[in-house]
Amino acid sequence: MRIVVVGAGMAGVQTAVALRDQGHEGEVLLLGAEPHQPYDRPPLSKDVLLGKAEHSRFDIDFPGRGIELLLGRRATGLDPVRRVLGTDGGELEYDRLVLATGARPVALPGQSARRHLLRTHDDAVALKGALRPGARIVVVGAGWIGAEAATVARRLGCEVTVVEAAPVPLAGALPAEITEGMRGWYAEAGVELRTGAAVGGIVDGDVRLEGDPGATVLLTDGTELGADAVVVGIGARPDTGWLDGSGIVLDDRGAIAADDRLRTSAEGVLAVGDCASFPSARYRTRLMVHHWDNAVQGARVAAANALGGEQQYDPVPYFWSEQFGRMVQYAGHHRPGDTLLRRGDPEAADWSALWLRDGVPVALLTVDRPRDLVQGRRLLERRTPLDPVLAADPAVQLKAAVRA
Ligand SMILES: Cc1cc2nc3c(=O)[nH]c(=O)nc-3n(C[C@H](O)[C@H](O)[C@H](O)COP(=O)(O)OP(=O)(O)OC[C@H]3O[C@@H](n4cnc5c(N)ncnc54)[C@H](O)[C@@H]3O)c2cc1C
Repeated sequence: MRIVVVGAGMAGVQTAVALRDQGHEGEVLLLGAEPHQPYDRPPLSKDVLLGKAEHSRFDIDFPGRGIELLLGRRATGLDPVRRVLGTDGGELEYDRLVLATGARPVALPGQSARRHLLRTHDDAVALKGALRPGARIVVVGAGWIGAEAATVARRLGCEVTVVEAAPVPLAGALPAEITEGMRGWYAEAGVELRTGAAVGGIVDGDVRLEGDPGATVLLTDGTELGADAVVVGIGARPDTGWLDGSGIVLDDRGAIAADDRLRTSAEGVLAVGDCASFPSARYRTRLMVHHWDNAVQGARVAAANALGGEQQYDPVPYFWSEQFGRMVQYAGHHRPGDTLLRRGDPEAADWSALWLRDGVPVALLTVDRPRDLVQGRRLLERRTPLDPVLAADPAVQLKAAVRA
C-alpha cells in the first residue's frame, strides 16, 4: 500500500515517521514544496533569527526509515476518485493520502524589497541579514510572530517599532484585560508599541531622507515610519488553494474540514496540522489550531487512521511563545463568557490566568509559571472542577485547588 504525505513540515514528517512506528510496511512518500531538508519552524523566530543556530533541520534518517523524500516538489491538484495527486513533477498514484500543507503567512498588498515575512527557513535567513545593530525595524502586527521577531531584533541591537491595528497586543488570541498588561513588556525591552495603528502601505525608500535606501511604513493616520526593514506578522491562512476543484470540503476559514478522525470528505484522504480543522467534542466547536503541538499529536492519529484505525482526535490544544525574556504558555480553548481568574499580579514577574466554565477549567495561560502549566494541563485534560477561590490564589498549587 502506497501512502503519500503532502507537506514536509512538522505534521507531514511526524505522520511519515508514525506510519513506520505503527508498522506500515508499504511505501511512504513525503512530498515537500521547499527544496530544503525538512525542518522545524519555532526556532526560526528564536535561535535561528538570533544566530544561535544555523538551521532547525529534523534529525531524522529518512532513507533509513524507508521514507522517500520528494523535495522541491509541489502538489498542484488532486483527483480523489482516481486516487491521483497532481504535482509539478508529474502525477502520483496513492492508496492513502495525508494532506499536511500547513499555512501561508498573510502579506500586505503591494511590493517592497524591504519587506519580510517569517514562515520559512529562507525568510528567517533573509530577515536575520537585516537585523544589524542600530537598524530601524518596523514590525507590523503585535501577534505571536511579531512579538518574537521584535524580541530578537531588540536583542540584536535594532531600534524596533511594532505597529498594531488593534488597541492591544495579541488581540486575536487573548482578551484585552490580559493583554493590556503586556504593553509593559514592550516598553521594558525598549520596543515602541503603537496600537490602534493601521498600516496603509509600505513603500521603498524613506520619504523623509533623500537617498536613503530604506522603506517607509505609511499609517492610515498619516504617520510615516522610516525603516531599514519591515517584518509583516499579521497571521497565516491554511495553504489549501491548490485543492480547488478537487471536491475536498474546506471550512469557512479555508482549512480542510476534517472529521474527528482527521478524515477529509474524500475516501482515503486525511488532513493534519495547520492546514486542517476538526470538530472538538471537548470544546463543542470546530478547531483550527496553528501550533506545533497540534502538528505532532495530530500526526500520530492521522497515521493510525490512514492505516485503518478509528482513533478520535480531541486534544487540549497547547502552545508556547518566548517573548521579551518570558515563557508564555497557553493550553485549552476559551471563549467569551467563560469565567476568567487571575493567579497573581499581572505586574509581577510571573502570573497565570485560568478560564472556567461551570467551575471546570477550559483554558490556562501562564507567564513563567511552568508548574501551573504542567498541573493545569492535567486538570484540563481530566476536566477536574476547581474551587475558584483556591485556584485564584497563586500561593496554592493548582493541583491543590480541586473542588472538594
Ligand atoms: C516562525 C514561526 C515560529 C513559530 N513558533 C511557534 C512556537 O513557539 N510555538 C508553537 O506552538 N508554534 C509555533 N509556530 C507554529 C508551528 O510551527 C506550526 O503550527 C507548525 O509548523 C505546523 O506544522 P505543519 O506541518 O502543519 O505546517 P508547516 O510547518 O507550514 O509545513 C507545511 C509544509 O508543506 C509544504 N507545502 C505547502 N503546500 C504544498 C504543496 N502544494 N505541495 C507540497 N508541499 C507543500 C510547505 O512548504 C511546508 O514546508 C511557529 C511558526 C512559525 C512560522
